[in-house]
Amino acid sequence: MQTSIIGYPRVGTLRELKFASENYFKGEISIDELNQTGANLRAAHWKIQQENGIDFIPSNDFSFYDGLLDTACLLNIVPERYQALGLSPLATYFAMARGYQGEQGDVKALAMKKWFNTNYHYMVPEINDATTIQLAGTKMFDEYLEAKQQNVVTKPVLTGPFTLLKLAKYTGVKQANDFVRATAEAYVAILGQLNELGVAWVQLDEPGLVTDLSQEDIALFSKLYAQILSAKGNVKVLVQTYFGDIRDCYQTLQELPFDGIGIDFIEGKESLALVKQYGFSDDKVLFAGLVNGKNIWKNQYKRTLGLLQELRAQVKQIVLSSSCSLLHVPYTLAHETKLPVASKRYLAFAEEKLQEFAQLKSIADQADPYSTDLYLKNEELFNSVRFTNNEAVQAKAAALTEADFTRLPAFGEREAIQHAKFNLPQLPTTTIGSFPQTADVRANRFAFKKGDITEEQYKQFNFEKIAACVALQEEIGLDVLVHGEYERNDMVEYFGESLDGFMFTEKAWVQSYGTRCVKPPIVWGDISRSKPMTVEYSAYAKSLTSKPVKGMLTGPVTILNWSFPREDISLRDSAFQIALAIRDEVLDLEANHIEIIQIDEAALREKLPLRKSDWQSEYLSWAIPAFRLVHSGVQAETQIHTHMCYSQFSDIIRDIDAMDADVITFEASRSDLAIIDVINECGFQTEVGPGVYDIHSPRIPSVEEIKQGLTRMLAKIDTAKLWVNPDCGLKTRGEKETWASLKQLVQAAKEVRATL
Ligand code: GLN
Ligand code: ZN
Repeated sequence: MQTSIIGYPRVGTLRELKFASENYFKGEISIDELNQTGANLRAAHWKIQQENGIDFIPSNDFSFYDGLLDTACLLNIVPERYQALGLSPLATYFAMARGYQGEQGDVKALAMKKWFNTNYHYMVPEINDATTIQLAGTKMFDEYLEAKQQNVVTKPVLTGPFTLLKLAKYTGVKQANDFVRATAEAYVAILGQLNELGVAWVQLDEPGLVTDLSQEDIALFSKLYAQILSAKGNVKVLVQTYFGDIRDCYQTLQELPFDGIGIDFIEGKESLALVKQYGFSDDKVLFAGLVNGKNIWKNQYKRTLGLLQELRAQVKQIVLSSSCSLLHVPYTLAHETKLPVASKRYLAFAEEKLQEFAQLKSIADQADPYSTDLYLKNEELFNSVRFTNNEAVQAKAAALTEADFTRLPAFGEREAIQHAKFNLPQLPTTTIGSFPQTADVRANRFAFKKGDITEEQYKQFNFEKIAACVALQEEIGLDVLVHGEYERNDMVEYFGESLDGFMFTEKAWVQSYGTRCVKPPIVWGDISRSKPMTVEYSAYAKSLTSKPVKGMLTGPVTILNWSFPREDISLRDSAFQIALAIRDEVLDLEANHIEIIQIDEAALREKLPLRKSDWQSEYLSWAIPAFRLVHSGVQAETQIHTHMCYSQFSDIIRDIDAMDADVITFEASRSDLAIIDVINECGFQTEVGPGVYDIHSPRIPSVEEIKQGLTRMLAKIDTAKLWVNPDCGLKTRGEKETWASLKQLVQAAKEVRATL
């Protein structure tokens, strides 16, 4: 039994790459130092995989920012506006990733989108009519040679041509089909180089294949690969899929001369049935994704061996693989000093998964794997009782009725009541919640966690920050204020730490985008709230001003989506438990005179199943009700806001309206306000604040560009329903650019208001 890893995390066990990159951006370290950090990380990742006997170790899975951006650069997909800056290749790369504002010019970053059903984000390759797709880089080859020098023979990894062309954005008239030839030729050139290097296997990632495919998609895929595979020479080509099954193209893959097919048996509901129904070609290797690359629970060997046995009856050559890249799990349990030993036993992060691979490899080929010590120990764990149930929560969830999911009076009536009550100007201005988490804010939290300061001192500092933040917002002239979220490390972790039933980690970071990492809590048992979590800070902020201050909560779907979920109860049941806990907080805020409450569902779209046929049945049928459950108990006067990152919800726009919030703010500027047409067409009732500038970049928007955006919005959205706000929270930004940007925002709103 051989083993394969699809990709390894890359930011470093202690986020070394994040810190080095940020220091490089600030000009504090040289490019050589940054490169050295990258090299050290790659070496460490290869070594640990080698030590665990992994047979197919990936290379080129490392990235300074994003793998798809690397692929775009390798293939010369670099829009002219970035080339025109005349920067070094790496600086151009970072300009595409983060935008650039300096002596050489002023350009925005490429669009960024969520990577399939994960919380990872990729940079959207941008192709125009003049783009010449061709091999234009060496990163992939350099990293193969670098590993080889360290005596590690790797399997270079690259996004495949189909997924690349499907995810790219086309800004001219030409579409994916017009680039088939050039793209295929570029991959042929890559295979040529790999042949010269003597590479044995290459992995082409095609997660695009697990989505709903049309006949045209399959034709596009076949056209690309017919040409590419005819030139593979001695290199064996593994087409790697993940995040689902490949029901629409299973036979196409069997028929094409691939040497290996990677299939996900964890998220791929139909994968096993497909293999059974159609068989598996004897001359191909099945890379069977049986170890979950996304979740952090230990692998149950009984299940894995059972599946292997079923597969072996059908397939001649099998390699044991992760279900997807390990990019989506934290590095190691070794840094977790506070997790109870009893809990740790159930967990496996990337390094522990490597050990599982080593163990499975050692027992899978034995005559009776089920009598091995490793197996028996694993099975004993799964037979032991893990959870502390909370019967009160279970009873509350079981007693829910339709009325608990319905807010009264209906939207229109509430809207009139709220307009009369708040009496806000037209195009009211607000922010999404967090303000810059500057070094002093982090230092305060850190000192408290380390025990260097008392809780009172810790809170006192936060109160001072809140007071300054409120004063500043008043000075800037915003209409609806926030407290700034200084007490929150992360919008989900904060609630995870305050609720019962979650378990949280110290160093279990997972890359979200670029240098940004998140530390998802673990849903360990039934969820409940024992005391108010946000009332004190919100009430304090409210006491400082006569303007409305929004209470700020994270919604149940986002809390669940940004946590590592349980595998022993359904997502629906977990979501309803969390919703009940957040509902109590909403009612406490209302009782404490917080008149506007924002319940963020930043990640609502994220776990939408990749296939449309599953959307309602597996997700929306509980996700939307979970949100409604949270706010259905408030008075008509209490205004409920929600916020979503990324406005790719044109296809679920009615479900979003059915969340029945009073106001929704969302990311829009990076996707060129595409969503406003959809809002216009569907008769969206919820008031809306499409973000007027991108907060993922330090760039300061001009008053003129914000006004232009607002003018475009007003052409489609009723003036009485339009809010003015940034795209998302401001915590990752510096203070200077934040104040400057918000002043521009308020100024733009005032100028547009004057024309109404
Ligand atoms: N209220 C949160 C903040 O401002 C929302 C963050 C998010 O949408 N990701 O930070
Ligand atoms: Zn957001």
